[in-house]
Amino acid sequence: MSSAYTESMNRLIEEFGKLPGVGPKTAERLAFHILKADPAEAMALAKAISDVKSKTKRCEICYNLAEESVCQICSGPRRDKSLICVVEQPKDLIALEKTGACKWVYHVLGGHIAPLEGIEPDDLTIDKLVERVRKGDVKEVIMATNPNMASDGTVLYISSLLKKTGVKITRLARGLPTGSAIEYASGKMLTDAIIGRQRLE
Ligand SMILES: [Zn+2]
Repeated sequence: MSSAYTESMNRLIEEFGKLPGVGPKTAERLAFHILKADPAEAMALAKAISDVKSKTKRCEICYNLAEESVCQICSGPRRDKSLICVVEQPKDLIALEKTGACKWVYHVLGGHIAPLEGIEPDDLTIDKLVERVRKGDVKEVIMATNPNMASDGTVLYISSLLKKTGVKITRLARGLPTGSAIEYASGKMLTDAIIGRQRLE
């Protein structure tokens, strides 16, 4: 990096450059934007970053992002708690919520089983899901994992554990192309996949 910059500018450019999809040119442009910005605007960005790190927790029921011990969905009065929709990440939950077709509650796994990457079932919230189903009045568990092989393996693993509870297990319809991701699917595609969900045997 050019030594023509001050040390603090160099640091800011370096930090921006660590963000996904941000190359050196963009990092430089962002840093100059902050330098020229109104101080209140720049500090608002710094505070938003600080707050999201210090205030964001995991919901103690579903492991969605939350600022209280229980997330807004789990504490929502109009949610059908007998339906649990299982997703890999909070961003998948957000994509499903945007369809407006969901009245259920969620369970966020935290990823999928990937032994080669060192992600074992114990690293996910699978045991907590089984516990929820065992304890509560759950009628249906809807698997809304991404359409790829690693996620399919995770679904098989979870359904083998849930089978003993007798709960109905369904899965989003196969409208989503293999290898695609729930977070990028259109609202229409997701709504169709929700309506057409099929029972897993
Ligand atoms: Zn929750």
